[in-house]
Amino acid sequence: MISIFSPALHKQRHQFVIDFVKKNKPRRVADLGCSECRLLKQLRFHREVQLLVGLDTNGAKIKKNMHGLAPLSTDYLQPTYNQLRVELYQGSVTQRDARLRGFDLVTSIELIEHLTLTDLEHFSAVVFGYMTPVSVIISTPNSEFNVLLPGLSGFRHSDHKFEWNRAEFQSWALKVCSDYGYEVEFTGVGEAPQGQQDSVGFCSQIGVFYRLKDRDRCSVLAGSDEENVFSYTLLYSVNYPSLHDNNTLRRVLVSEVLYWAEQLKNRWIEEKSGGRNGDFTRCQTVGSVPMEGKKAACEEKMDGPVNYGGRCDNFFWRNDPNQESGTLNSYVSVPLAVMWSWCPKVRELSESLGNLRHLLMDEPQVKLSQDGSAVLVKYQEQDEEEVSSDLEDSEYSEDSQCSYSVEQEEDWEANV
Ligand code: SAM
Repeated sequence: MISIFSPALHKQRHQFVIDFVKKNKPRRVADLGCSECRLLKQLRFHREVQLLVGLDTNGAKIKKNMHGLAPLSTDYLQPTYNQLRVELYQGSVTQRDARLRGFDLVTSIELIEHLTLTDLEHFSAVVFGYMTPVSVIISTPNSEFNVLLPGLSGFRHSDHKFEWNRAEFQSWALKVCSDYGYEVEFTGVGEAPQGQQDSVGFCSQIGVFYRLKDRDRCSVLAGSDEENVFSYTLLYSVNYPSLHDNNTLRRVLVSEVLYWAEQLKNRWIEEKSGGRNGDFTRCQTVGSVPMEGKKAACEEKMDGPVNYGGRCDNFFWRNDPNQESGTLNSYVSVPLAVMWSWCPKVRELSESLGNLRHLLMDEPQVKLSQDGSAVLVKYQEQDEEEVSSDLEDSEYSEDSQCSYSVEQEEDWEANV
């Protein structure tokens, strides 16, 4: 069909659903006759939606398009607390399947006109009598508009079994409501030119159905024996990464902690090198490290975000270069309390300092001090050389303070 609409008619239909979703915030949404999954692909960006299901008889179409519903790399790199599961099924709307019951919204966009009238009866019984969603959006061509479609003779598509005028659609919809306990509002998308709107209506007519609270006397097919009907074939399912998932949360937290430990170590080295003939060696500690004083300094600030505006040497220390079984590496200790108070993301993810320690305890990538109060970051002699030469380049000021900087934040964004 020639596109006489801008935006294109299918986009207007999908936008209608999206506006409904924005307003009504359904959590579980199923699209019947999902075809190329175009509507589903847009709906996955709506944070309210937690379960998104597509159903179509045409399994080949689903298989061809389903990977477009996979999470994006940014969903893995920067997961949020949103939760989303996507499931795609091959099956017919004329058959029941328990996995499609109890949804908040079921959409059927340009589907019913592909069904024979007998199958349409089954559709009504399955959708309104068995799935019993809170709301249903059904769109179908309005045959009265066809006179305005250039070059059209007959139906708009060769597979259409019928095309209804407004009275026919409304009569069917009202019968469904009375049979299954729903109420309906009529609207549409694809406006006729001015002056013809009343006479032909919308190009796609839409019924928005809402389940009534008191529907006891209606033909509801729900029964305990119906619970285990599984007639659809699952073709695709995926869980989007979410910070509600413990593994995802740990993965993101560990990468934040490793990043910030490195950043804070570098700041500390910068500060030491800035002193030139200052007291770098004063921070080195051999053998058993006198943690007590340093721990106390951190712990007195453990209750909330702290401004560590002062110099870092009260909080950081470095152990003996040869202590680690003959290696030339030593470690800089970055107290968790410092990291927790400086790094908003670490704070957000861990919620409390105690929890941060707990979450990092069994992480093989993170080396904690013996008492678990600090992250130990490998220190190599070249670290200091690199920082010194960086400092010469950047005209580092001796007065620089070890404080959180916007530049660091921007680097982090870029790295992600
Ligand atoms: N809803 C799609 C959209 O908005 O992009 C377009 C739907 S397309 C015009 C009609 C779809 O209904 C086709 O993909 C077809 O395979 C599917 N279909 C036809 N009969 C069906 C049935 N009994 N059960 C499920 N899907 C069916």
